[in-house]
Amino acid sequence: MLIKLRQREVTLCAGGLFLAALIFVPFLSVWKRPDKNHGEYQRSFQGYSVWPDYRNNPSRSHHWFKKTCFYTEYQQMEIGILADVLKQWENAQDSQCRELFRKFNFVFSVRETPTNVIIPASFEDKINKWLGNKKDAFKEVTHQVITSVFNELTSEHTIYNPLRAKRPMTKTSHQDRQYVEDITKESAQNCDFCEGSYKRFTALDPFGRVESKHSYSVANAFKYDRWHSLVLLRNHHPLKWTEEEFLDMANTGLSWMKNVNAIQKDYVYPIIFWDLLPHAMASQIHPHIHVNVRPDQYYGAQELWRRAGETYFREFGSNYFKELKELHQVLGLTVDLGTATAFANLNPKHETEIIVLSRTPNKDFFRLIYYVLRTYLDDLDQLCFSMAITLPSLVPDSYMNADRGRMPAFARITSRGSASSVKGDLSSMEMYGVSNVNMEPWTMIQHVQQSVNKRSVGG
Ligand SMILES: [Zn+2]
Ligand SMILES: [Zn+2]
Repeated sequence: MLIKLRQREVTLCAGGLFLAALIFVPFLSVWKRPDKNHGEYQRSFQGYSVWPDYRNNPSRSHHWFKKTCFYTEYQQMEIGILADVLKQWENAQDSQCRELFRKFNFVFSVRETPTNVIIPASFEDKINKWLGNKKDAFKEVTHQVITSVFNELTSEHTIYNPLRAKRPMTKTSHQDRQYVEDITKESAQNCDFCEGSYKRFTALDPFGRVESKHSYSVANAFKYDRWHSLVLLRNHHPLKWTEEEFLDMANTGLSWMKNVNAIQKDYVYPIIFWDLLPHAMASQIHPHIHVNVRPDQYYGAQELWRRAGETYFREFGSNYFKELKELHQVLGLTVDLGTATAFANLNPKHETEIIVLSRTPNKDFFRLIYYVLRTYLDDLDQLCFSMAITLPSLVPDSYMNADRGRMPAFARITSRGSASSVKGDLSSMEMYGVSNVNMEPWTMIQHVQQSVNKRSVGG
């Protein structure tokens, strides 16, 4: 009886399902994904166009700019005179200067705000001591000038007050180096990423590992995305790696990306992240880069720049990255190395930010990145850094829409404060408001130029 009833139930159930399918299948066939643009509010982003290629053509120099776009000659550019420079630039007679200004003005809004500080007599001595008892320095404290640089396309915002860099700070370079030596020795004793351990204690990708002379890839055991692996240097020391080792690690990363794309054709947007040392959020002391390939789009902050590229293209019909580089070039903020360019971003996210650009991730691109990284580590005693690299899409040219919103090879790099300090280097301001940067971009780019001069010999 019981069995009979069950059979009847089953028959009824199956019949019901069949009926439901008859009713819903016609609806399903016309059902579409919800249109995210429906309703009264239309999102302004309309998708990517095909931009002209990024090219590193020789363009107008800082020397040309100073000679042609000004009636007074400035000896040394600095953030404090930027607003004044812009006023003259805007009124230049030369048509090329005016066209360049129109582009600068489309991207950046620069505002200068003076502010007075009242110092009671009891505080004067202390201030003078901090400033090394220099005559004009005290006046600088009572009449400060804040410069705000806002990118109208990305809404990134930086405020500069170079005077803040003169505040008393404890020098930690010796302490930082000792700290790094200590944690390097300690972590090497039991490191899963080291030569003798990685084959046993790290995960694999479906295609195995990419191995080369100085580096190898391992799959991340705790992924943050579908394709997320690490490329490790064979050598454990976080600071001691040569140009050859660094280029080898970059090439291993590129090979890994090609392997991913060969398996999954729709995974085309390659990304690299590198944080060095725990103070910059590295989970392992052993030097390693994170490699990703994504479908559909890059990560959010990278898409912000890509969308800026689209807005710029719709206004000027040209390549944003190429012209952003040119705007920095006329202001004297670039360093070239073959087909690659580094510039000190006028609108940095964080102190000492450098951007490296090239049409493709070629040897010049990675060499220049290496010289920037060595500037931090060897010349500026900034032992930890963070870097994000956006690479051009892996889609072959024959593929439909392959060149829509095509990014150049593009790295953003910044130092991350004192390696041994318990004090963090990002505050509520940087996370949710505005970046406060105190080092002059013109000072930073000089350091990079010196680094390239002394390190690229014979390269
Ligand atoms: Zn190791
Ligand atoms: Zn990591």
